[in-house]
Amino acid sequence: MALAGFMRRLNSREYKNWIKAGQCLTMLQSRMQGFINSEMQSFHRQLASKMTATPRQRKRCQCRAKGKQFQPNCPICAEWKENILAHHNNRNGEIHWGNCDPSLWPTHYWEVAKVYLPRGHAQSKGPQQCDAAAFLNLINTCDRFKVSNISRIREVIKCRNDLMHNSDMKVSSSWLADFGQKMHELISEFTHVPGLEQEGYKMQEVLLSDWSVEDVGLYEVDGHVKPAYDPSIVVKMKGSVVDTPNLSLCEVEIQLIQQLLQELYLQIEEQGTLSKEDQDNISKVKDFLSEYEDLQSVFQEDLERLDLLQKDNVTLNVES
Ligand SMILES: [Zn+2]
Repeated sequence: MALAGFMRRLNSREYKNWIKAGQCLTMLQSRMQGFINSEMQSFHRQLASKMTATPRQRKRCQCRAKGKQFQPNCPICAEWKENILAHHNNRNGEIHWGNCDPSLWPTHYWEVAKVYLPRGHAQSKGPQQCDAAAFLNLINTCDRFKVSNISRIREVIKCRNDLMHNSDMKVSSSWLADFGQKMHELISEFTHVPGLEQEGYKMQEVLLSDWSVEDVGLYEVDGHVKPAYDPSIVVKMKGSVVDTPNLSLCEVEIQLIQQLLQELYLQIEEQGTLSKEDQDNISKVKDFLSEYEDLQSVFQEDLERLDLLQKDNVTLNVES
């Protein structure tokens, strides 16, 4: 009964809460993208203007960073590293140098920005490829951003981690209310970002919105319910759904599950082994995706990857 599963999922109060909070983070990301982009371009120009070491030739150097390590092999990278660190709020803590290619620092502003991002951003080519968490971490670690109360940023980072390290994909209504308040406080720090305040009002609407999926009008094709991301299903929902520009609610849902999976993969990759908690998380996410036929078809590759992770771990345990 694929249809019944789809309805059960999207009618569950705590799952709806999880989606609504995620939708607000998506809205924050899309509204802050332009601001982050222009800030990081100016920041790059500012750093570049201070450099004294000049490249002898136009060729890129051979310096490369790996993981949390970077030892420059040329004077240019050494000077860039020093200046990047001078603007880092946590210069004695963990820095994910492996996110960036230092040989591109003089010419690519985003390679500089990536030093201030959390792990897992090596492939990102610009702010459009980052989620809200990346922006919040950037604001938290780069002193280019002047914030009167930095704890307001950190509180939303914590909320985002609650959501994305949550293999149950459920949050209570009191958690959601608290999140709404923290998001409101965060936005009050960025009233100068064009359109963000208005987006904040829209987020309040999202948090107060409600919907119910009814079976009237939903249909199955060849015995399969149409994939959840199909926008034709969204219009069959009753109640108030606040759509984000260009994204239906079901597309937001798919995006959020993808982000949760990426977090899980990154964590496992970084540790190099599966903790008991990872194993539980993998089982929970697998059970969740397998429970719903529409999600199974979207996340087929991930289900196989999760299966492999579990099997590899079983083999490792037997061998050790
Ligand atoms: Zn170099």
